[in-house]
Amino acid sequence: MFLGSRVVAVHEPQIGPPPPAWSDVQRVLPAPDTGEGSLGVPDGELASLVAAADWSAGPLGDPQTWPQSLRTSVGICLSSRFPILLWWGPELVMIYNDGYRPMLGESKHPRALGAPGREVWTEIWDVIGPMLEQVMAGGGATWSADELLILDRNGFPEECYFTYSYSPITDESGGVGGVFCAVTETTEQVVGERRLATLAEMAGLMGAPSRSAVVHTAAGILAANVGDHPVVMVLDTPPEGDRAALADLVEQQLPGMGAGTRARVSDLVRQASGTGRPVSVPADEGAVAGGVRAWHVYPVGRTAGAVRGRGAAVIVLGESVHRPWDSSLEAYATLCATHVAAALADLGQLSEERRRRQDLVELDAAKSAFFTNLSHELRTPLTLIAGPVQEVLATTDDPDQRRRLELVERNTHRLARMVDAMLDFGRIEAGGLAPHLVQVDVSVLATGLAESFRAAVERAGLAFTHDCGTGIEAQLDRDMVERIVLNLLANAVKYTPEGSVALTVRGVGDDVEIAVSDTGVGIHPDDVERAFARFERLPAVAGARSHEGAGIGLAIVRELTELMGGAVTLTSEVGQGSTFTVRLPVRPPETARGATGASSTMTPRRVDDFLREVQTWEQPVGDRPARQAPSAEPSLRSCRPRVIVAEDNADLRTYLADVLGGDYDVELVPDGRAALEAALREAPDLVLSDVLMPGLDGYGLVDAIRQEPSLSGLPVILLSARAGDT
Ligand code: ADP
Repeated sequence: MFLGSRVVAVHEPQIGPPPPAWSDVQRVLPAPDTGEGSLGVPDGELASLVAAADWSAGPLGDPQTWPQSLRTSVGICLSSRFPILLWWGPELVMIYNDGYRPMLGESKHPRALGAPGREVWTEIWDVIGPMLEQVMAGGGATWSADELLILDRNGFPEECYFTYSYSPITDESGGVGGVFCAVTETTEQVVGERRLATLAEMAGLMGAPSRSAVVHTAAGILAANVGDHPVVMVLDTPPEGDRAALADLVEQQLPGMGAGTRARVSDLVRQASGTGRPVSVPADEGAVAGGVRAWHVYPVGRTAGAVRGRGAAVIVLGESVHRPWDSSLEAYATLCATHVAAALADLGQLSEERRRRQDLVELDAAKSAFFTNLSHELRTPLTLIAGPVQEVLATTDDPDQRRRLELVERNTHRLARMVDAMLDFGRIEAGGLAPHLVQVDVSVLATGLAESFRAAVERAGLAFTHDCGTGIEAQLDRDMVERIVLNLLANAVKYTPEGSVALTVRGVGDDVEIAVSDTGVGIHPDDVERAFARFERLPAVAGARSHEGAGIGLAIVRELTELMGGAVTLTSEVGQGSTFTVRLPVRPPETARGATGASSTMTPRRVDDFLREVQTWEQPVGDRPARQAPSAEPSLRSCRPRVIVAEDNADLRTYLADVLGGDYDVELVPDGRAALEAALREAPDLVLSDVLMPGLDGYGLVDAIRQEPSLSGLPVILLSARAGDT
């Protein structure tokens, strides 16, 4: 090294005369612009070294002889804080500043100053040499971003990244005298981003379906980061003590490594999984040749990851020979292990949750299958009851007989409606119901339904308005739309004690919107999902006209709407009312359209069926005046026992009045509260009460009676149709 003997390292104690002051060099080198805040005062280590160097012995010669272009370039270089390197002359002699100094690591400085580039950057000359030659030959400037260069600057081949450009420096001859290189090292940034990307992917392990999926996916993600760890294993270790099984596992995973390496790794894994702490060991020669300098084993949350009869999971990382295992790599590896541990811990909860969901799905399917079968069985006897009853009704004139038979007929119909709803639901569930799409004038259809419903709504004491527009058309299944509207209208009447019900139809963009609003009891926001769920009924509410139902009306509404490619929403406020809005596409999507032509197999349920049902609810519970049994003769009332019958089903009340009316004075009331009022007004000898009633139910009535001193001895019999309930 021609400069070696003269270079003075400033951090070493000075022996002999001090190096020449910058002002001496200044005489030789171009004086920096001395204006305040211009190029800055070049007073760093490199300025001193440049000043002290014996240039006359090297290829550049005495600085007095340097061309002005070189002097100017050196001046700019030394006074800049940005890392700058100059390559000068055919030998590309290096002159650099303090900013560039760290890029030379521990081994290349100060010998690099004044040395030909090829001698300093031997290990990367095959990459940068041709670029420099190209610039020197007049090929113009170059630009490299985040370029990987394996440098030997700290005693090992180090993975480094740089963003740099080479620009030609024109000399006095007009040719290219040297190359100006502005460079910044981006290793930290590139490596940091790489680790972040790996960690982000590791976060996605959460929710993996099984233990082996976690282990395999983690291994796959980590294997992609060869820069930080060229060899990776994620092992679900065998039970402690099973050395042979562990050795087999390691052998499978490290097929390319020698037996010595595998034994070393097995030992390390056993140690880490035994202690629950990370351990490291230098790699043997064979592994080093394969690019691994050391092995690091990180156990994965021992308690969380361990399964009975099995060891812990561990991550084995082979340290790259190009990247030392520093604190940042340690933190990264610990985070990787934490992600795997969290995913394994989550598995326990996940499988529990999945099993619960599966159980529910199976239970629902079993319920549907059971009800569908039962419904089939019930349909035949129901038809066999309804037919003969209708025949007798057609021929009998006896009013008592007619009343009883009408009761049978009404309730046979009611049962048939429920059975049909159940069958329809079963068909929807089994995917056996396809919409038969035709062009429907929804305005006409809805107006027709509203008009046929008007009388029933008004008989229930409610105002009814409808505004269905004109000429609003869409491709829909007529029966399904009819079923949806009737279900919603019937519910509106059922759950609205007073006020009004409204039906509107309008076109909104590419959809038809059908809305049924009421001023009824409303639904709490928390209960909205339950209201639409099959077989779900909400707790009986005061004000509802009935608490009877199978709890599938809204589920059918939702299913039918979705079959036609639409959606149903509900806005509701408790005590204020509800609005059910069904939005159906004018042109249904392909999924529904694909079914065009298939015939709907819904059980025919027409307006009459719904009207019959609505009639049975009569007036809202609580508003109905108590009624005497028709056969209770006033003259006998004083000497016959008095019985109060509380029952919310109108037909059942009438029937009980018929049965008991011959021997007792019967007062009929629709719910618990009315029964209490009747009892307080005139104490009865017995109260016969239904258990399930809106408002005050049977149990509430018993409590209220027991708390009332004047009624304390009153016998109460609770009746329930819920066979099997306790
Ligand atoms: P149900 O046969 O019980 O009426 P649905 O599926 O039709 O079954 O309704 C489910 C539940 O939603 C009902 O039990 C009732 O509590 C509630 N609900 C339905 N419609 C209305 C409405 N218009 N106002 C208030 N609550 C309603």
